[in-house]
Amino acid sequence: MEQLIFPGEAISTEEEFMPTDGAFSEDGSVRAALAGTMQRSDSKIGINGIKNVRQYRTGMAVLGLATDDLRSVIFVRLDTLKNGSTSFVPLKDGKVVSPKPDTRRTHGRGRGRDEAPQPKPSKPMRVGDIITALIIAEDRDTYTLSINMPDFGVVYSECRECGQPMEYDPQTKVLACKACEIQELKKVSTLYGNADRIQELLKRYIK
Ligand SMILES: [Zn+2]
Repeated sequence: MEQLIFPGEAISTEEEFMPTDGAFSEDGSVRAALAGTMQRSDSKIGINGIKNVRQYRTGMAVLGLATDDLRSVIFVRLDTLKNGSTSFVPLKDGKVVSPKPDTRRTHGRGRGRDEAPQPKPSKPMRVGDIITALIIAEDRDTYTLSINMPDFGVVYSECRECGQPMEYDPQTKVLACKACEIQELKKVSTLYGNADRIQELLKRYIK
């Protein structure tokens, strides 16, 4: 996907390129005058403006990359979404607030002694996973994301040992690397690995 440039962003130096359409120079830098994608020739650089740039809103579905895990909050860098001539751009990160690991239930007070433990992921995802999520709230700095519904959750994951894509078995609900025999439990989306259906999902939630 082509990277979206925002107005004011430095895209080159005057020494390297002359500004053309959609760009201007300032203090030796060439900067974007519009939101759009970069266009470059031998000596000139400019911006192909995008007509409709909008921001994500509550109720929309997003695709993103888990970037930071701070115990109870996982931060997610959101992707740009293109729909016809409209582009939705994330100007802030998303966050998934994960339920605190329920240690009391397994170690406490003899309740449900020796019950077969349900296989539950200790974390819904790991840094580096690609996820789909629903925006359920936003504040000044972040979008709050939910992955509770079946379509939402991890849609792509690589093995932490060898980097191969993990395969998902919907029967056992386990992610597995065939090469390393590593298995993981996560909150996996029913759309795991299905790029077309992920695009459909994102478009279905456009507001
Ligand atoms: Zn592996």
